Amino acid sequence: MSTNLEARAWIEVRADALRNNFALIRETVGPDVRVLPMVKANAYGLGVAEVVSVLEPDAPWAYGVATVAEGVQIRELGVDRPIVVCSPVSDAELDSAGERRLQLSISSLDALTALAATAQRRDTKAFVHIEVDTGMGRSGFDWRTASEWLPAVVEGTREDVEWVACFTHLHSADESDASVREQWDRLSRVLGALDAPPADLLVHVLNSAGVFRTPEYAHAVVRPGIFLYGGGIGDAQPDPLAVVSVRARVVHVRDVVSGTTLGYGATYRADGPQRWATLAIGYGDGLPRSLGNRGTALVHGRFVQIIGRISMDVTVVDITRVPDVELGDVATLLGRDGGEEITVDALAHLAGTISYEVLTGLTRRLPRVWMDDGS
Ligand SMILES: *Cc1c(COP(=O)(O)O)cnc(C)c1O
Repeated sequence: MSTNLEARAWIEVRADALRNNFALIRETVGPDVRVLPMVKANAYGLGVAEVVSVLEPDAPWAYGVATVAEGVQIRELGVDRPIVVCSPVSDAELDSAGERRLQLSISSLDALTALAATAQRRDTKAFVHIEVDTGMGRSGFDWRTASEWLPAVVEGTREDVEWVACFTHLHSADESDASVREQWDRLSRVLGALDAPPADLLVHVLNSAGVFRTPEYAHAVVRPGIFLYGGGIGDAQPDPLAVVSVRARVVHVRDVVSGTTLGYGATYRADGPQRWATLAIGYGDGLPRSLGNRGTALVHGRFVQIIGRISMDVTVVDITRVPDVELGDVATLLGRDGGEEITVDALAHLAGTISYEVLTGLTRRLPRVWMDDGS
């Protein structure tokens, strides 16, 4: 890797904004609700080691991941808190999960049986979060058939396995409060069917959108992700502080005559004399290729148009109306420059995707440069 992180293109990540967004979640749910920040997929692409070190002083209850490998990585950072794997895992990973004391989500009786056998063989206790499918459909015990599986879960969590929590995942919290109510009603029907719930059984339902739009369903634990990293929650407030910026250097400037074509497929043709700037960033860095001839960038605090198809390594913008652009100037593909801003949600919308995919799609070629303005 280049020794100068800002030589070509890079990501700036604001620790103070991340901290601020975490505090907003805390304020909204109050002191009695535990926060389980989701740090899966390398903390949505930002860098899990750095994100965990920023959040550690605020003492979240636990960290949420999607895979055993992600949990192991956090344990290896020296974190002693609970780590919850929120997606189903294969039996091949049960030993590794047990060794690192990862708490697992369980979606079937087979999975519970396999885990109990592993715990018994290892002579340790396993800790589980029972997932209930209330409409998401991708994992979890079916809420409609609780009478078939619930007694077996109770039975299967008496000895080698401890039942820590029951949870469900929302499918439309960013769009519809009514859907949250419906999913909660389904989960609560399952909980109501328990004769004697474990005394300290935790219940968790809310993702980022749920935390702010329907905080009345916070219960014991909330599982926010995208809001921490600067992604919005549908058309609702509050907006998070922006955490991520993507910058790239101008590496070539040229004046072109009318008719000059640009990029693969020659999909853009100058309709008069223009000035173009080539930016040192492309889809190989995770800039969505769908932004070709659609997206924008900021140069000298002004919006400029992305023209032509985005290449693997470079992207061209039309700077005809921006004076004095020079080699080495910094363009902003995501984030603020002067008084203007490209939010991750605006960029995602233009690219035909969502903030989550934009952030997790930023590749390793972009160095993450952490900045901290605050306390
Ligand atoms: C990713 C994830 C979350 C976080 O969702 P956001 O919309 O990013 O807040 C919560 N729960 C589960 C099970 C997840 O997989």
